[in-house]
Amino acid sequence: MKINISNIQHFSVGDGEGIRTTLFVKGCNLHCPWCHNPENLSYAPVQLHYKNTGKTQSCGRCVETAEILPQLLEDRDFFEESGGGVTFSGGEIMLQAEAAAELAALLKQEGVCVLIDTAGCVSYQEFEKLNGLVGGYLFDVKTADAEKYRQIGGKLELVAENLQRLLADKQNVTVRIPLIPEFNTDTDSIAGICSMLSAMGIKKVELLPFHRLGSGKYEALDMVYAYKDCKPLSKESLAEIRAMYETCFEVKMEG
Ligand code: SF4
Repeated sequence: MKINISNIQHFSVGDGEGIRTTLFVKGCNLHCPWCHNPENLSYAPVQLHYKNTGKTQSCGRCVETAEILPQLLEDRDFFEESGGGVTFSGGEIMLQAEAAAELAALLKQEGVCVLIDTAGCVSYQEFEKLNGLVGGYLFDVKTADAEKYRQIGGKLELVAENLQRLLADKQNVTVRIPLIPEFNTDTDSIAGICSMLSAMGIKKVELLPFHRLGSGKYEALDMVYAYKDCKPLSKESLAEIRAMYETCFEVKMEG
C-alpha cells in the first residue's frame, strides 16, 4: 500500500524516547496558525523556494510502505542502544491509518517500536487499526475550549473521546500540550486543560514551547505565517506555566 510522505528525518529529538527516526507524512485536517510544518498541510506535493539561497526543494511523494522500510531501519542499532525507534508524524498520520498500520506491522516484525504523533481528530476506528501494532501515542491536546478547537478545524469532543478510549484500551499515551501564546497559555486556558485531563486520570504531561523554526518554510512556500512576529515565551513565563501544570501532573518540558 502507498503512503504519502514528505520527509524522513534521522536522529530526531523531541519525538519520543531515545534516538528516533521520524517519518513525516503529508496532509492534515487541522490548520493551526502556529504550525511549524506548513509543507505538510496539503496532500498535494509542494515546492519550497528559498529566496536567500536560491534553492528549491520538492516535498511530497507517494511510496510503497515496503520501499521506505530499509531507510527507516538504517539506525536500528541506535534504537536498540537508546530505547528509541521510529515515530510517524505529519501532518496527521492518522488520516493514513491503514498505510501506517501496514508500515507499523513491518517495523514490528523487525523488532522496532513505532510511536504515533497525532492531534487526535479522527474517528476512533482509525486508532483501532493501529492499537496493538504500535508502542504508543504522542497525543496533542491543544485546548479544553470547544470554540478554540473549532477555530483550528478540530473538535474537542472527538479529541477527548479518543484520548479516553485509548486509555481505556490500555494504550501507552503521552499527552503533549503545545504552549501557544495568545491561544492556550493564559491562566484560564491552563486551568481548563488541567481540569479536563485530571478528570481523565492523566498523571503526566509534556509541554512543547512555541518556537518559530518553521518561519523560513512559510516564506519558501509563499504562505502567510500568522505567528511570524510572535515572540517565544520568556523563561519566566515558561517557569510559571510549568508550575501551574505541576500542581496537577508530573511535567516534562521540551527544550
Ligand atoms: S495538527 Fe499539527 S500538523 Fe496539523 S496544522 Fe496543527 S500543528 Fe500543523
